[in-house]
Amino acid sequence: MYDCIIIGAGIAGSVAARKLAEEKGRKVLILERRKHVGGNCYDERDAYGVLVHTYGPHIFHTNREEVFAYLSRFTDWYRFGHEVVARVGERLLPVPFNLNTLHQVYEADKADRLERILIATYGEGSRVPIMKLRENEDPDIREIAQYVYENVFLRYTMKQWGQTPEEISPEVTGRVPVVISYDNRYFGDRYQGVPRDGFTPMFERMLDHENITVQCGVDCSSRMRFEGDAVYCDGKRFTGDVIYTGALDELFDCRFGRLPYRSLDFRFEHLDEDSFQGHSVVNYTVSEDFTRITEFKFLTGQRDANGTTIVREYPFAYTGAEGEIPYYAILNEENEALYQRYRALTEGMERFHLLGRLAEYKYYNIDAMAEKAMQLAEQL
Ligand code: FAD
Ligand code: UDP
Repeated sequence: MYDCIIIGAGIAGSVAARKLAEEKGRKVLILERRKHVGGNCYDERDAYGVLVHTYGPHIFHTNREEVFAYLSRFTDWYRFGHEVVARVGERLLPVPFNLNTLHQVYEADKADRLERILIATYGEGSRVPIMKLRENEDPDIREIAQYVYENVFLRYTMKQWGQTPEEISPEVTGRVPVVISYDNRYFGDRYQGVPRDGFTPMFERMLDHENITVQCGVDCSSRMRFEGDAVYCDGKRFTGDVIYTGALDELFDCRFGRLPYRSLDFRFEHLDEDSFQGHSVVNYTVSEDFTRITEFKFLTGQRDANGTTIVREYPFAYTGAEGEIPYYAILNEENEALYQRYRALTEGMERFHLLGRLAEYKYYNIDAMAEKAMQLAEQL
């Protein structure tokens, strides 16, 4: 019946499905354990009619022309330059730390001098990871680095990862560099925004193809068996392509121990007021137990809702308990080695492909994931 089975209807599974169905004429079955498509990009209206991102704020951003063009087939965009501020005491500071932030933190003469030094050292427009900035021995740069480290990174990272910025992979803090310009945007990418009517309709349109069957509320373990190098679906040997976008350890009953992940507890609150914080995202970088508050109407541009809905994010260590979701792979050598042990179990499985943030144990953004899915479909 099917040429291809895809496990997971997130961006990875959905883009791969559409490409295979449309361009390769494959009959694709998608099994998705959640009740809906979209994976972590899923959005929906809450009980008050406010469009919320159920699994945390998602902003699409990319410089990848091909990815932008492809997704644009399934949605129009509400485009904006996403901005974030950090609550530091009474102040709201632009993040990433940039020249606007510098001038907010230091008095005018000093800020001017520090700006000249930063530009002379790194060049105007450059983006310097905090861990790189900290290596500089110039006393003025050290002072800035120390300020940014203490007021932007240290406590936020402790909350998010349970570890200091030194202990986690530099790739992670490097996502939010110090920016030597007056650009307050969180991302430097050319295209940024959210699908105009939400992510979920974009996914629904992408998956609406005669060669695609989506079954939600189905965990693949209830339908598929992986025995040695063979794959079975509903008890029968399946010899087509299988694209797996779930967590790799789960596929093998976590036999070598669980792959470590960070999870998040999203606590939503609806307020009967026009605006709570006047910003889409406020990062709490020096206080509170949560990392950030998102106020959705400023992210989605929604105007037809009464009141406002916000969400606070409380990070914790994923244990695999019922209902917990593994959101972030914890990138380090030990975990990568464990991941590779699991991966080795799939090596003899011809036509079995690992794709996605979970399956590849990587920190991918939506656009990178979409691109990898396009490449895999092309290769098949
Ligand atoms: P997922 O979206 O996780 O999809 C995997 C799907 O597989 C899930 O729906 C899951 O239910 C299903 N599945 C797993 N196991 C099974 C199984 N056994 N049987 C059946 N189905 C299964 N990226 C950005 O570009 N911009 C952002 O602003 C952004 N914000 C983020 C905020 C948060 C809080 C998080 C956690 C991530 C954010 N990301 C953002 C990253 C983005 O969510 C990912 O890049 C993207 O969702 C990865 O897609 P995916 O398909 O690999 O995984
Ligand atoms: N980070 C931080 N303070 C901030 C923003 C980011 O310490 O105000 C660090 C933190 O370790 C975080 C990482 O940089 O996990 C990456 O941030 P990003 O916003 O990319 O995280 P995501 O949106 O993927 O959760």
